Amino acid sequence: MSDRSLPDISRRTFARGLAATATVVGIDTLSGRWITRAAAAEAGSSAFDAVPRLDGELLLDEPSRQAVAVDNGNLTRVVPRAVLHPGSTADIQTMIRFARRNGIKVAARGAGHTTDGQSLSPGLVIATGSLNRIHSIGPAGADVDAGVLWSDLVRATLAQGLVPPQLTDYTNLSVAGTLSVGGVSGRFAQGAQIDRVRRLEVVTGTGESLICSATENRELFEVMLGGLGQCGVITRARVDLVRAPTAARIHTLRYTDNARFFRDLRTLLRRGELDEVYNIWAPGPTGWDYLLQAVSYYDAPSSPNSARLLRDLSVSPTEASVVDLPFAAYLERINNVIDATSGYERLVKPWFDVWLPDSTIEGFVGAVLPTLTPEDVGPSGFLLLFPQQRAKLTRPFFNVPDSNTWVFLFDILTSSPTDTPPAGFASAMKARNRTLFDRARAAGGTRYPIGTLDFDRADWKRQFGARWPELVRRRQRYDPDGILAPGVGIF
Ligand SMILES: Cc1cc2nc3c(=O)[nH]c(=O)nc-3n(C[C@H](O)[C@H](O)[C@H](O)COP(=O)(O)OP(=O)(O)OC[C@H]3O[C@@H](n4cnc5c(N)ncnc54)[C@H](O)[C@@H]3O)c2cc1C
Repeated sequence: MSDRSLPDISRRTFARGLAATATVVGIDTLSGRWITRAAAAEAGSSAFDAVPRLDGELLLDEPSRQAVAVDNGNLTRVVPRAVLHPGSTADIQTMIRFARRNGIKVAARGAGHTTDGQSLSPGLVIATGSLNRIHSIGPAGADVDAGVLWSDLVRATLAQGLVPPQLTDYTNLSVAGTLSVGGVSGRFAQGAQIDRVRRLEVVTGTGESLICSATENRELFEVMLGGLGQCGVITRARVDLVRAPTAARIHTLRYTDNARFFRDLRTLLRRGELDEVYNIWAPGPTGWDYLLQAVSYYDAPSSPNSARLLRDLSVSPTEASVVDLPFAAYLERINNVIDATSGYERLVKPWFDVWLPDSTIEGFVGAVLPTLTPEDVGPSGFLLLFPQQRAKLTRPFFNVPDSNTWVFLFDILTSSPTDTPPAGFASAMKARNRTLFDRARAAGGTRYPIGTLDFDRADWKRQFGARWPELVRRRQRYDPDGILAPGVGIF
């Protein structure tokens, strides 16, 4: 039967069980097209595989599919054939089994904030935003659905005097989305978010729902944390919580000299007296100004001793600009900036994100920074450096360089000046990213896979290094037909 002989579905279609026969959707297994049962009958198709009853919604209409056809990078458009807004873990099991027997590729999507098509699929997108329940919060941790946004979780935990020990700076991101990539900030001694997870519920590529942890289904647990969804879809997570302070003091120290900056940065890291240390760069009169952020949490009315915290640096503590914020406002500060930037989500964002070891970061930054123009960053883009204590990054499939001390995430978070950038902007930035990545890799660097990079199988193999055969084995075990995570492009 030709593909054309079956009417396609153009209106909004809800697959809400077999009772509503006219709108039951499924696959014509000969043509591979999504159709209604009625359309299949009309066309005389004998090969119809109906989608079983769902608690949530399966949407096939154009606006719903277009809504998940791009991500935050706006560089790649892949329109799926269907979008699942799951009402339960069982819905994800049902649709993964359905996809598997019909050879449909499946991507899980949280907030869709990766920038290189990682959450896109030509087949089915599972939009986890409908799984957004916070089941419990307590000193032993938070038990949350995969689609809960960290910002919502933080608001709920702060109400109980608790907070996740590690967060991303921007928190309108889904729990499972950041657990699939890593999740870090200037909290340099806390590990990544994936190091602060106790338990996951995962639907594998065979449709099986498994609980996994360090002691139960450990292989699956390990490969899901920072594993870019290669072996399953996270449906629920138990994440650590710690006592929340009431306020944060942000000291900003300005540098123009690379060596002085790194000397002071290392001094602050070595002392370990601050809660966060990171850097942002801003265009200055003679190049890029380094704006070192040294953050101390505290419980008002007591307050940090800034002079002591910033002692013996090349910049006097009196030169630091100091801002005190209530802790909740501190955690919202980046969300407020990003969300107040009109149209930010539509800008083209060819991001460059790379991890480097302590031994080469200074030389890399010192060499690359002077080559970057304001256009490389864009009016609403930014440059970031997050240090992390290497020993605290424990998950085997989180690809960070080896180091006895620190590793550093260096980000060029490029955004285009408008949502219709000049021709050649994206390709020029992607070429830049590749050149910089090759340079970083030669310096012992690895890719933080939230950004935009032309990356082939050989690159992925090198990225996983000695863990590659193990990744392949686990993929074959948990997703034997290779239907998951097509947008990442590892397999
Ligand atoms: C403005 C901004 C600021 C950021 N700041 C930081 C930061 O400070 N620190 C940091 O570490 N990162 C940061 N990021 C990057 C961010 O952590 C990642 O892009 C993260 O993946 C986004 O979460 P998401 O919910 O949008 O995931 P998505 O983009 O939806 O998904 C990311 C990947 O995870 C997979 N995935 C999603 N849900 C699931 C699931 N349930 N099960 C299995 N796989 C799944 C997707 O298929 C995809 O491969 C930032 C991003 C933006 C846009």
